[in-house]
Amino acid sequence: MLRLSHQYYLIMSNEGWNLEHTYADLPKIFYRNQKPVSTPASQMVIFNQNLAERLGLNAKKLKATPEIFSGAKVPQGAKSISQAYAGYQFGHFNMLGDGRAVLLGEQITPDNRRFDIQLKGSGPTPFSRGGDGYAALLPMLREYIISEAMFSLGIPTTRSLAVVLTGKDVIREKVLSGAVLTRVASSHIRVGTFNYTSAFGTPEDTRILADYSIQRHFPELDNQTLRVDTSQDKQPVRENKYILLLREIARQQASLIAKWQLVGFIHGVMNTDNMAISGETIDFGPCAFMDSYDPDTVFSSIDTEGRYAYKNQPSIGAWNLSRLAESLLPLLHENKRDAIAQANKEVAYYWECYNANWIVGMRTKLGIMNAEQEDTNIIMELLGLMEKYKLDYTNTFRTLSFPIEKTSSLLEMSEFSTWLQKWEARISRQPQENNALDIMKKHNPAIIPRNHRVEEALTAAELGDFSVMHNLLTALSKPFKDSEMYAQPPKSTQCGYKTFCGT
Ligand code: AMP
Ligand code: MG
Repeated sequence: MLRLSHQYYLIMSNEGWNLEHTYADLPKIFYRNQKPVSTPASQMVIFNQNLAERLGLNAKKLKATPEIFSGAKVPQGAKSISQAYAGYQFGHFNMLGDGRAVLLGEQITPDNRRFDIQLKGSGPTPFSRGGDGYAALLPMLREYIISEAMFSLGIPTTRSLAVVLTGKDVIREKVLSGAVLTRVASSHIRVGTFNYTSAFGTPEDTRILADYSIQRHFPELDNQTLRVDTSQDKQPVRENKYILLLREIARQQASLIAKWQLVGFIHGVMNTDNMAISGETIDFGPCAFMDSYDPDTVFSSIDTEGRYAYKNQPSIGAWNLSRLAESLLPLLHENKRDAIAQANKEVAYYWECYNANWIVGMRTKLGIMNAEQEDTNIIMELLGLMEKYKLDYTNTFRTLSFPIEKTSSLLEMSEFSTWLQKWEARISRQPQENNALDIMKKHNPAIIPRNHRVEEALTAAELGDFSVMHNLLTALSKPFKDSEMYAQPPKSTQCGYKTFCGT
């Protein structure tokens, strides 16, 4: 049985590394030993000092040691591996795995939390398939910017510790500068990791992974397995902990996707290998934030059918959860029919949680603190107007968070004035009437990583000017602080934005 904490020999270096390797203690089927490929050069492009400090790392020293983050030099106590996983990509099952990433280990922080430290773009691995194992600078900076913006918005996410140039060219449609991103995650266990054990491992492997996941992410489930069954003889019965695991993942996933919807984030490639069971947003490939409100919005150039469009994200969450439930079936019940019935219950629970999170979140965005039947209509009417008049999603909610000026262009629409009266009447019916705007200001961001701003930062970075990116990151770190510059929606010539998978 796996023991996750305290039992390991801790090696603390003067760089602050305090790495453990519980994932590498799993059976061999879960990973391959893999060293990062040495690079010709290592040049620090951006280093996340705050994150380094939270991790207990010596930020000053490490900022001056880019070789650690390019893979040229492994940190003290590292034992690098590439993880095996599979995944349903656009609905189709494939064997995948870390094709261009290595996990250096799990950093134990001063407050005793555990985070994976992974290098992404560090060279080929046994899972590279046709790929070269490398990454280009701009997509790695893009991941850095958007993941850090998500963090500041309070959305669970993997984070970015550093981006380093490797001095190696990467060949895509053109020759690009190679780079490595250091990703920090509460783990890299994906729905696809369970799809992998279910397809290629034994039922025992799935059980080992499920036990590991419980211990790593939901240790409280081990102690919550007793419930009183009132339908029987009121004797406590032991609840199956794997059902509880599935339920907890459903709850986290529902909460995460509701947060995406509420802020207008489109992940773009919600394949099961890109859904972490921790409930963190992971894999910032073709993701982007919506400007004007349109539920059909798709940015990804490869998502021609709109499978991962904004409006489809909640149901894709349920679809992915169903693929997880399928992989867990043998653990849910010995009788397959009962196992399927249980799985369906948990997917229904996902929807229950999602709907509850969404409505509470939307109410909060509108300063509504109690519940009334009519609220859904108020919300849907507003969204309908935003869609009809192509209003900016973020700015509309932000504008509503302040007293509406008489000159506001919103009031030029008579339908909007009617809606406004309804909403104001609704606010006045609640005890927190006077606090509504204050609450809204704390929940409706002023600044999101708008596509045209991100592109502007990347274009400058490509020419060696990183100041635009630093300024953007500073603004994104305080998303509830108004800024005329960063709140500007794109000009119409900057619309029609397309994203690419960033390999
Ligand atoms: P993604 O689209 O980033 O979620 O990646 C899907 C799969 O492709 C994962 O197994 C990645 O490790 C792999 N992959 C992506 N880019 C590369 C690359 N340049 N070389 C090797 N494998 C890659
Ligand atoms: Mg991926």
